[in-house]
Amino acid sequence: MGKALIIGAGGVAGVVAHKCCQNSEVFEEICIASRTLSKCNALKEKLDGGKTKVTTAQVDANNVPELIALIEKVNPDIVINVALPYQDLTIMDACLATKTDYVDTANYEPEDTAKFEYKWQWAYRDRFKEAGITALLGSGFDPGVTGVFSAYAQKHYFDEIHSIDILDANAGDHGYPFATNFNPEINIREVTANGSYFENGKFIETEPMAIKRVYDFPQIGPKDIYLLHHEEMESLAQNIKGIKKIRFWMTFGQSYLTHLKVLENVGMTSIEPIEFEGKQIVPLQFLKAVLPDPASLGPRTKGKTNIGCIFQGVKDGKPRTYSVYNVCDHQECYKEVGSQAISYTTGVPAMIGAAMVMTGKWKRPGVYNIEEFDPDPFMDALNQFGLPWHEDFAPTLVD
Ligand code: NDP
Repeated sequence: MGKALIIGAGGVAGVVAHKCCQNSEVFEEICIASRTLSKCNALKEKLDGGKTKVTTAQVDANNVPELIALIEKVNPDIVINVALPYQDLTIMDACLATKTDYVDTANYEPEDTAKFEYKWQWAYRDRFKEAGITALLGSGFDPGVTGVFSAYAQKHYFDEIHSIDILDANAGDHGYPFATNFNPEINIREVTANGSYFENGKFIETEPMAIKRVYDFPQIGPKDIYLLHHEEMESLAQNIKGIKKIRFWMTFGQSYLTHLKVLENVGMTSIEPIEFEGKQIVPLQFLKAVLPDPASLGPRTKGKTNIGCIFQGVKDGKPRTYSVYNVCDHQECYKEVGSQAISYTTGVPAMIGAAMVMTGKWKRPGVYNIEEFDPDPFMDALNQFGLPWHEDFAPTLVD
């Protein structure tokens, strides 16, 4: 059917590329382009020999003219942005200039402030509409599948959803005292930021990790969960009818939190540049350089993830509770595509989102969050491409 340009060659990009190759009817050709060409070529070597033709290219995704030249040369139907959130706007600019559809997995963040907001990308709505191209925002797992689950619950089970609890559990053990499962810089910016939840029309901020509960996850067992700010709450607050409350919870082990506290206390998680031996460095970027590369955790990580949503609301005048979640096994993911489950659960939906736009099912000019589209074909594709979901009509609630 067509061609995708994948930007980035890290943990998530590796899974996207593998999954595009498993869906060769849609992805006849992919080009993997990133800052470090050797990483793109290493990935190509693993994929060559299948039905999908794989090419590679070097690109600095901060540089719009370079991106435009690459898109004009490759001529893809869609750009799948799995570089870093800092590159979202430059890649969207290049898509506008070349009239190419766009999909990503994380909202834009300015490099010098850890701010998780859609306002910068939503500002492109009119320009994408006028250009006749689609931007699908946040097609990972969370954001991503959590929005699709919300749209599915809304469509099939509720007249009104009043509350959503998004629960993200990772019971994987990589054997390191401290490592992050996706890009360390982005991960640490997210978890050291203030928490927040949505209630009665507004967001309420909390201190980082200030609210803790214990939740007994199917197939995983009881885990400590902490309330975090997470970007999909912003769009779900606008797109889910009648919504009154949204909270996002993530599991953290004591060892992770203790290490993080120490690193924070000594200033290693700061994003303020400092002078070091005559050079400006950002402590968090230096920390990233000494931490294990998330892409290297695959062979060492054992255990499962469980990510999903619990909905409460009304149907036909009666209260209703519903939960939908996916359980993913780190070692199974590694066997299939050579990555741990965090990259897997992000990369599979990124491929599916791109396929939805390429096949025309979700082709609509403008800039959209994932819950704004019909969830049914995406839910089917999750089952087909390795992220089967489970439903529970009497789930345990988060108090
Ligand atoms: P990695 O750090 O493993 O990969 C990022 C890739 O982007 C690297 O190949 C890097 O190149 C490349 N890159 C960075 N800057 C540039 C640039 N200026 N030009 C070209 N390429 C560049 O990150 P992950 O794969 O773990 O994460 C990828 C994305 O997925 C992130 O945006 C992250 O926030 C998002 N994510 C979303 C999740 C979700 O559920 N929605 C969950 C997890 C991640 P180099 O190798 O040279 O550094």
